[in-house]
Amino acid sequence: MAATRVISDFSSKKHNHKSCVKSAVKKAESICIDRGMRLTRLRRKILELVWSRHGPLGAYDILQLMNKEEGKVLPNTVYRGLDFLIEAGLIHRLDSMNAFMGCADPVSRHSGQFLICRSCESAAEIHDAGIEQTLGRDAKRVGFSVEQQTIEVLGLCPSCSSD
Ligand SMILES: [Zn+2]
Ligand SMILES: [Zn+2]
Ligand SMILES: [Zn+2]
Repeated sequence: MAATRVISDFSSKKHNHKSCVKSAVKKAESICIDRGMRLTRLRRKILELVWSRHGPLGAYDILQLMNKEEGKVLPNTVYRGLDFLIEAGLIHRLDSMNAFMGCADPVSRHSGQFLICRSCESAAEIHDAGIEQTLGRDAKRVGFSVEQQTIEVLGLCPSCSSD
């Protein structure tokens, strides 16, 4: 039986987040080189912004931050950049929130399973291959072929549930 892998846990409030961003960018660079994809300066900037927190960041917030740091950037440029990052597996899209979150393990291809805190909006990502298989099998039963399955679960993170 496949074990559940914790891709990113709820982070403590005090930690060196700069090093999280740095390592995410480093991974992205090597992945893009391996796959012959071009991580342009703008795409890297968008990745850094998505990584500004350990939780989903809305498309609109990303756009605002981008405009603040880079001057006026067209929304389409940002959306195309986000699409690129999703395609490369560097970030995930959380449809129900129209938000994006950086993936701490972009090397392995996987569908994300997210535990999202409804209070502080931080999130953890886990990967349980069993869930994927079960859903795929159940979908088949009704003749449905799954294209992508991002699972979003709402609740309270450790620090919010202890308040
Ligand atoms: Zn961090
Ligand atoms: Zn992931
Ligand atoms: Zn929380």
